[in-house]
Amino acid sequence: MLAVGLARTGVATALFCAARNAKVTATEAKPESALGDVPAKLRAAGVTLELGGHTEKTFLAQDLIIPSPGVPADDPFLVAARSKKITVWSEIELAYRFQEGKLIGITGSNGKTTTTTLVHHILANSGVEAILAGNVGTALISVVEQTNARTVAVVELSSFQLELIERFRPDIGVMLNLTPDHLDRHKTMEAYARAKARLFENQTELDAAVLNADDAPTVGYAPKKPQLFWFSRKQAVKQGAYLKGEDLVVTHKGGEDFVMKAQEIPLAGAHNLENVLAAVMAARLAGVDAVSIGKAVRTFAGVEHRLEFVAEIAGVKYYNDSKATNVDATLKALDAFAGRILIILGGKDKGSDYTVLRKPLREKAILALLIGAASDKIEKQIAGSVAMERAETIERAVEIASQAAQAGDIVVLAPACASFDQFQSYEHRGRAFKELVRQIQRKSNGTVERQG
Ligand code: ADP
Repeated sequence: MLAVGLARTGVATALFCAARNAKVTATEAKPESALGDVPAKLRAAGVTLELGGHTEKTFLAQDLIIPSPGVPADDPFLVAARSKKITVWSEIELAYRFQEGKLIGITGSNGKTTTTTLVHHILANSGVEAILAGNVGTALISVVEQTNARTVAVVELSSFQLELIERFRPDIGVMLNLTPDHLDRHKTMEAYARAKARLFENQTELDAAVLNADDAPTVGYAPKKPQLFWFSRKQAVKQGAYLKGEDLVVTHKGGEDFVMKAQEIPLAGAHNLENVLAAVMAARLAGVDAVSIGKAVRTFAGVEHRLEFVAEIAGVKYYNDSKATNVDATLKALDAFAGRILIILGGKDKGSDYTVLRKPLREKAILALLIGAASDKIEKQIAGSVAMERAETIERAVEIASQAAQAGDIVVLAPACASFDQFQSYEHRGRAFKELVRQIQRKSNGTVERQG
């Protein structure tokens, strides 16, 4: 077999296969010098390496190829291999074949990490042996040996992983929403949605599908075979979790149970209410009772870089939503606050339409600070809706925001773009933002102390 790409998932995949006596080759575009101790580790495990580039010959010599999540499915070598009937799987498919116990698979355009982490938190706090895996950090293949008849693996799944499955079949599949993202890679919304909907493809009557009743595109992909459960913050659903007045309730096998009051949810924003409802349903289906679910949700601290509260300085609240790498997530951030928002926008454009931000910006924002490569495009598309300033860098943006904001205002980094023009990752961007905010905080504390 061939593992393509030697980031964490590729390395774990190669080592997993080598440990099972497969004849393993691993290939990586980066040269050996850029790979640290990885090459040595792999060689010691008996893996053959092709570094500093790929060759078609290597691809065509395989019976199975497992590309890393970052490799496009239409990569020419993968296409060539497929035309020669060579099997191409994502790491998820391989892991699935070795996984024991239950599996909850969670996908969607936004909210995957939050929901996956929350489901894991609920299960773990309710005495279930839960294993957190997938995009959220650890590849499923790295933890698959920990699974057994008692475990429940809670797995975050991307469209890229689902695109390359064959038999993968979650006991519980959760589809959060379908909004345009990654169109740079999937070309059309339909291809993107179809890849995500493969989550349900192999499910049978014994399995459960949990879907967002409020999201029309998602409803359109409701599968036929599995039992359907819905979640909604707008309407009562026959089977599922929904908002009933001020209460979160869950219906399952005929009975309706109270879970918690909506205002007890520790996360901001209507979108997080949706994530919670989805998580409540998934946990209920995994066998947790409504009271335990409610208890666990109340103690959930949220996930870093997702509308994460950073600090309050002189009455101004700062939030890091660096993971808002698409327009929809930014809309949710604007929606989460009452108004007087100073928002930092920009980064690497993903082919998005920013004009949809115009209305919420006009209604809720007082200043937009533009950073990075997408500044020109965003400036043109949102012109006239809100006061704008070209800050270019995050340092300058935070500085301008902190000077312009008054007590009661909200400063939020919710850039609607990828980070790769100026940062290594959205985490890098989020940490940079938080550090800048903390510098301001330290300075302001210093001032207060001196005054005192
Ligand atoms: P994902 O793993 O799908 O990228 P995250 O939980 O990491 O999702 O959240 C990504 C971004 O999307 C964050 O900016 C967050 O505020 C926003 N977000 C979270 N949940 C939702 C949702 N249900 N709908 C829309 N946006 C959301």
